[in-house]
Amino acid sequence: MASTGKLIDAFAGEVVRRGDPEYDAARVVWNGMVDRYPALVVRPTNAADVAAAIRFARESELVVAVRSGGHSIAGHSTCDDGIVIDLSRMRGVRVDAAGRTARANGGALLAELDREAQAVGLVCPVGVVSHTGVAGLTLGGGMGRLQRSLGLTIDSLVAVELVTADGRLVRASEDENPDLFWGLRGAGPNFGIATSFEFRLQPFDGRLTFGTVVHPIERADELAALYRELVETGPDELWASFGLGLAEGRPVATVSVCHSGTVDDAERDLAPLRAFGPPVAGAIEVRPYLAVQQMHDEALAWGHRFYMKSAFLPALPDEVVRRGSEHVARVPDGTDGAISVWSWGRAIAAVAEDATAFTGREAVYWISAEVYWDDPALDDECRAWSREAMRDVEPHAMVGRYVNDVADATEGIARSVYGDAKHERLVALKRTWDPDNVFRLNQNIRP
Ligand SMILES: Cc1cc2nc3c(=O)[nH]c(=O)nc-3n(C[C@H](O)[C@H](O)[C@H](O)COP(=O)(O)OP(=O)(O)OC[C@H]3O[C@@H](n4cnc5c(N)ncnc54)[C@H](O)[C@@H]3O)c2cc1C
Repeated sequence: MASTGKLIDAFAGEVVRRGDPEYDAARVVWNGMVDRYPALVVRPTNAADVAAAIRFARESELVVAVRSGGHSIAGHSTCDDGIVIDLSRMRGVRVDAAGRTARANGGALLAELDREAQAVGLVCPVGVVSHTGVAGLTLGGGMGRLQRSLGLTIDSLVAVELVTADGRLVRASEDENPDLFWGLRGAGPNFGIATSFEFRLQPFDGRLTFGTVVHPIERADELAALYRELVETGPDELWASFGLGLAEGRPVATVSVCHSGTVDDAERDLAPLRAFGPPVAGAIEVRPYLAVQQMHDEALAWGHRFYMKSAFLPALPDEVVRRGSEHVARVPDGTDGAISVWSWGRAIAAVAEDATAFTGREAVYWISAEVYWDDPALDDECRAWSREAMRDVEPHAMVGRYVNDVADATEGIARSVYGDAKHERLVALKRTWDPDNVFRLNQNIRP
């Protein structure tokens, strides 16, 4: 490796090397299964630092990992022996209330975007755990509780500034480098290091009717039927998920709802769910959006081991619910595994499938089998549980996968994420913007 002196001359940020007291803390990422030892971790403070870090990595022939929130499920934001370009010193979000836009720096977290937008009665639809990075979430698509009314996060994206593999600061939007902007919305980590994002914001009073009801697993089929009806007949403001999981070690079926319309409308739209009968646990109540956005932060804190698989569905067949109920009864002991189904469509489907690299807009449901655990001895069993659960779903699934959920980096995975036609277009873009595949630690589009 070239001496880091060469980097430090042109670099205003921090450099953490092996042996430094903070090295162990600096190399950690969210998924506890990912335990890697980079040669160094650098923390740029601006786009010029990012360019200097890329230049240094290329001259030193170091593999490059890019990190914002560190939530990559596959562990793409760290590496062995290479350089981690960690944007945690480039946080911050600025909102233009009159123009209804937000500018998020490349290392910002969802919590900042939510807080700054809500401070002036606005919102950008983002994910459901507030310590997730804006960058990784957005560059892959961005699903969340407001998606049926406001779309994916990329549907609010106006422009991205990024430093490319050859060290240039480039802007991409509908008017500037529109092909690149297309690719950034779904396959973003392949093309450069995003240093800022501009989002369009929507007015939102921050009041949600929100909660989960838990019913015995024996009522899973009936609850799934009601869930389908809620999703299919409910308004765009109603997002709902159906779950098969464990409560105090016993299999249960759940429905979670998030209604962003008026309280009266929510009461009307959720009446069939209340009429389903008293739940064994859970409640639905009016809650502030910011509190809801943070309510899973602690349960999904850094350090647990995690694996998942997901798919898009055009319908939720009884067979999938029945097989799912059998799988939750077999979740490995000492772990927390669940099958979740999210309502999709509406504002997501209102954008044409070929308008962005993201693939899966025509789905009606997104489904996942997710598992958390702490004991490394359970790694194989947990991964096998999730894979087996999803094997039963695959015959019902559509083309496309949500790239941010893909935990395995197997050969040909990018084609299965984007489908053949989009994959070809992405390969051409990759050849233009990153022909040497400097940015390869992602669900990689090979140039
Ligand atoms: C607890 C948890 C909850 C989640 N909830 C949701 C959810 O509700 N909705 C949803 O859509 N997704 C969700 N996800 C998935 C999440 O969107 C992805 O893991 C996403 O990639 C995380 O982004 P990050 O910046 O935190 O991760 P990182 O690990 O920092 O990065 C993820 C990927 O993006 C690349 N990258 C990061 N920053 C940049 C940058 N500035 N420029 C270019 N490339 C960059 C990295 O190289 C890596 O390939 C969740 C994940 C976790 C772990």
